[in-house]
Amino acid sequence: MLRQTILWMARNQRVKHLVETMPVSSGIVRRYVPGEDTQAAVVAARGLVDDGLHVTLDHLGEDTLDPEQADATVKAYLDLLEQLSAAGLARNAEVSVKLSAVGQALPEVGAKLSLENARTICRAARNVGTTVTLDMEDHTTTDQTLATLRELRKDFPETGAVLQAMLRRTEADCRALAYEGSRVRLCKGAYLEPESAAFEDGVEVDRSYVRCLKVLMAGQGYPMVATHDPRMIAIAGALATRHGRAPGSHEYQMLFGIRPEEQKRLAGQGEKVRVYVPYGQEWYGYLMRRLAERPSNLTFFARSLISK
Ligand code: FAD
Repeated sequence: MLRQTILWMARNQRVKHLVETMPVSSGIVRRYVPGEDTQAAVVAARGLVDDGLHVTLDHLGEDTLDPEQADATVKAYLDLLEQLSAAGLARNAEVSVKLSAVGQALPEVGAKLSLENARTICRAARNVGTTVTLDMEDHTTTDQTLATLRELRKDFPETGAVLQAMLRRTEADCRALAYEGSRVRLCKGAYLEPESAAFEDGVEVDRSYVRCLKVLMAGQGYPMVATHDPRMIAIAGALATRHGRAPGSHEYQMLFGIRPEEQKRLAGQGEKVRVYVPYGQEWYGYLMRRLAERPSNLTFFARSLISK
């Protein structure tokens, strides 16, 4: 119930307006979002890469209905890619893009505009020697996002996809995407979804995650195991061994600020570990999804709101 309320707040414009007046340096925000501009993102990436980790950077923002805002997001990614390259980080850093941040939700033109915008970002990533992964948003966007992915992969086959184990359709999507050259990030899913589309019980979601892992690890693609869950990480490791997958033929992914010691431990064992680093001013939706996963942080969050 609490998770559902927080996820409802994540999409409520009035609550968003209130919360966004908090300075980003407030403890709870800073824990998950290292900063607001490209420079802060590059500094965070540098620190993680120096610790033996890889990164994927997300310029925060979503659900835009303004083509100029979508355009500004594209420019932010181009600037980021240029600066990552200048800092010598492009080999270890890719970018994650939400199609709704580059125009997908715009009536009528959304599919075409977001495809063209994503294509521009993919081209810039390719030019500096790195890749793009398309984040996955709520279930109403899954078909459109996978269609955009198919289009992008014609020119940029290295483009990564995200699938969410909480959706009932995902095991089938994993089968469809477990082919050679395909990069698939498997996560549990962070959105408020109806029971018709998603498993609601955590145990069911975990079972689905394991079924999807089995498909991806047995397949020909490159699985990206995105979870902080120790059981899922252990099962992924066992499946990788069972299928004779060497370290580097798959990777683990976690969010910035969550289980940093585990990130380093896995990397120390020779595993490839990538940290998802969100940055920018539009941190509200992202932060609320993190709070929904960890309601124990709510007290801390409420305190930062009151003391602003
Ligand atoms: P949970 O069920 O939340 O947690 C399981 C266990 O993990 C906990 O019991 C605990 O032991 C440990 N754990 C979890 N959080 C913490 C914490 N804060 N501190 C300490 N231990 C903790 N979702 C999408 O819908 N679309 C995306 O595109 C997307 N991209 C993602 C990219 C990456 C790299 C990652 C890691 C996640 C992404 N997510 C995305 C979010 C994801 O769907 C989950 O909401 C989120 O990862 C929490 O699920 P979990 O697998 O960590 O397990």
